Amino acid sequence: MTLMTGAQYEASLRELNLVVYMFGKRLANVVDDPIIRPSLQAVAHTYDLAHRPEAEDLMTATSHLTGRKVNRFTHIHQSRDDLVKKSKMGRLLGRETGCCFQRCVGLDALNALSIVTYDIDQAHGTEYHPRFLKYLAYVQENDLTCDGAMTDPKGDRSLPPHQQPDPDQYLHVVEKRKDGIVVRGAKAHQTGALNSHEIIVMPTSAMREPDRDYAVSFALPSDAPGIVYIMGRQSCDTRKLEEGLMDRGNFLFGGHEALVVFDNVFVPWERVFMFQEYDFAGALVEKFAAYHRQSYACKVGVGDVLIGAAQTVAEYNRTEKASHIKDKIIEMNHLNETLYCGCIACASEGQKEPSGTYAVNTLLANVHKQNVTRFPYEIARLAQDIAGGLMVTLPSEQDFKSPATGPWLEKYLRADQQIPTAHRMRILRLIENLTLGTAAVGYLTESMHGAGSPQAQRIMISRLINMKEKQKAAQKLCGIEEE
Ligand code: SF4
Ligand code: FE
Repeated sequence: MTLMTGAQYEASLRELNLVVYMFGKRLANVVDDPIIRPSLQAVAHTYDLAHRPEAEDLMTATSHLTGRKVNRFTHIHQSRDDLVKKSKMGRLLGRETGCCFQRCVGLDALNALSIVTYDIDQAHGTEYHPRFLKYLAYVQENDLTCDGAMTDPKGDRSLPPHQQPDPDQYLHVVEKRKDGIVVRGAKAHQTGALNSHEIIVMPTSAMREPDRDYAVSFALPSDAPGIVYIMGRQSCDTRKLEEGLMDRGNFLFGGHEALVVFDNVFVPWERVFMFQEYDFAGALVEKFAAYHRQSYACKVGVGDVLIGAAQTVAEYNRTEKASHIKDKIIEMNHLNETLYCGCIACASEGQKEPSGTYAVNTLLANVHKQNVTRFPYEIARLAQDIAGGLMVTLPSEQDFKSPATGPWLEKYLRADQQIPTAHRMRILRLIENLTLGTAAVGYLTESMHGAGSPQAQRIMISRLINMKEKQKAAQKLCGIEEE
């Protein structure tokens, strides 16, 4: 089965036996939990869309291993065109779901490992790359969703892994056995972890020799013994437990993050892709980060939704012809399309790595992500400006339905007489959801900190800029002779 449908994906998740805690209790049924379910539906959309003829070109690709059609989320980029299509796929899915659809982390982990396992083998004579390709074939053949797990809790930020008072603050190897390794630690902020079949672990930063037991990468089924998930909260999450759908804004889709604990977990050798090669930990982090910074094409698609919502509410309020409103909408589009330029540019300027995989241009991917840490906030500010204060003072759906209060709300919250008050309410709730509610996790805070916080990109930009070349250009034009 190389292309699952959303329904088949959901059925496959039911087979898993994940250990998940939320609100202090272990969940007996993850798939049908009302808080988690919208995030499952967002991932399911990455499966369903692959079957829609108009999206096929973006959503599917030809496996370089088998020549078979696979979901692009399991594909290893074979050209710049593949990289560009990945960016376009992210925008499309962001627009279709209005949230984080979670599956990119696995795609980015697979591609980063396809490069780095090859490079480790070249340097150390190991056999990680063929091992990785075997694993990749399994992922492609079964159309799996993988969680790409990089971020360690990190404990005391001033200390490297091996000097931490609590050695588990970075995930590490605690035992080497004949048949595999045992690992302990945790991965924080794991996007889509509960909707994943597999979890692919990578180190969180560059490592030195004393940290070699922390330089480890591997893949495990998400329900492997010893893995425990603790679900993260989102602002307004319990609205999903209320009756009615309107107050949720986006009631179909959402994202989620979880803390994933590895409590002495066994990993067989055939699923280990890095073991103590500390000299390649930094390369793996850099490659994954660059790919994932490109993946923030998703925010352009979510931006499309927010801009569409802002224009709609302006029309409902009959303010759409005011020049300052028109100008704000132009500004939102300008910022959003500037983001699009970045994710297309880093893909178009991609390069072939020795393994054959195409990597994005690292400098441009970092510039793109740096813009993502800022522009969605400004787009959200403008959307709130256009929406007006009613977005946060609106009574509940129950009050609209109540015979005691409904008629008052119908009368006093109507703007354009042709537009039902409920439509005005729905679009305001969507803007609330995207800028203050559950989806604001993905659109705003994740834009800030996901795929690395702003300073991480600034460090990369300063490292990758060719300053000498710029200075030479300036000095030549004003006649400063080279020494
Ligand atoms: Fe994908 Fe965007 Fe979610 Fe990251 S934030 S997993 S890039 S949808
Ligand atoms: Fe992310």
